[in-house]
Amino acid sequence: MNYSGRLADLRESMRQAGLPALLISRPENRRYLSGFKADDGAFTESSGHLLITPERAFVLTDFRYQEEAAEEAPGYEVRVYNRGLDKLLAELAEEFSIKILGFEEDYLIYKQVRILSKTLGGLELKPTTDLVSDLRIIKEPAEVEAVEASLALIEEVLDALIEELRPGIAEEDAAWQIVAGLRERGAGIAFEPIVASGPNGAKPHAVPGPRKIREGETIVMDVGALLEGYRSDITRTVWLGPFSDKFRQVYSTVREAQLMAIEGIEPGMSTIQADALARDVIKKAGFGEAFGHSLGHGVGLATHEPPGLSPLKSVELRPGMVHTIEPGIYLPGWGGVRLEVMAVVTERGCRVLGNLNRFYSF
Ligand code: ZN
Ligand code: ZN
Repeated sequence: MNYSGRLADLRESMRQAGLPALLISRPENRRYLSGFKADDGAFTESSGHLLITPERAFVLTDFRYQEEAAEEAPGYEVRVYNRGLDKLLAELAEEFSIKILGFEEDYLIYKQVRILSKTLGGLELKPTTDLVSDLRIIKEPAEVEAVEASLALIEEVLDALIEELRPGIAEEDAAWQIVAGLRERGAGIAFEPIVASGPNGAKPHAVPGPRKIREGETIVMDVGALLEGYRSDITRTVWLGPFSDKFRQVYSTVREAQLMAIEGIEPGMSTIQADALARDVIKKAGFGEAFGHSLGHGVGLATHEPPGLSPLKSVELRPGMVHTIEPGIYLPGWGGVRLEVMAVVTERGCRVLGNLNRFYSF
């Protein structure tokens, strides 16, 4: 992983934004820039921050993480705060004559900003957004490989589950097999697995429960692994027993929409156009209202990160972007079909990652 190159790129962005110093608080961004792995237990608990200036780079953390920070982020100086981040920042601002400090507006909570504003009185706090995610949006080859390694594990585990899936298995037990399968392979989950059977499949983010899987209904499984910080995210929809006509119709529409996007996505295209490739197929089939989410999202150190492939925000697709392609149709009372693959934008088009070929073709 090219930490020094990333830091150089960030400093260039800071220069362009007129920021002489930047506080990085988001765990994925800390890791991306420095290698410091610690996650935050919750939104209100921090394992540390980075402070970046044109010449220096610090990990600011507390007693618990000082050793990890020194080991994992060798390019950074570690400073420990005993009396709070605000007090340490005040000392560093004094030491390096920092007058303007950028912070991540989409991560720092109001209370922290209030405390910083109070302690750092004379210093100007400047909200920033997307400075690091704009770098993260293009993956280095080593990052694509890390995502592929994470994907290979979840594909193996999901393939085994689909093989063993029988009527009578509870959704939550199927979900547990995903968790256990990943743990046995030395990985973790990227997010809590979704196993949604029958009418539950109409809820895109259903939580697995005691409901037992049956024949003759949709079973939506949306799962992902976490390996060395990198995440994967895939969905397959399975049907046990003889197919119904409705299932054939809905499933083949979703699959056709996905294939249209896979064939059509190329660099230079906007994310809105990419989304439309699949959405138009679903609309034409009469299910437009039943596809209420975006076509895809970036995946990397976070499960959901830029670029979003949605009808709402236009981002130009560029080689090296890793994203999902996940059209779906959700019919309340009946169920749902979602099919999700991961892809990387290449010089000419996009390449689907992984090779779990659990798709029906009618
Ligand atoms: Zn997913
Ligand atoms: Zn997804």
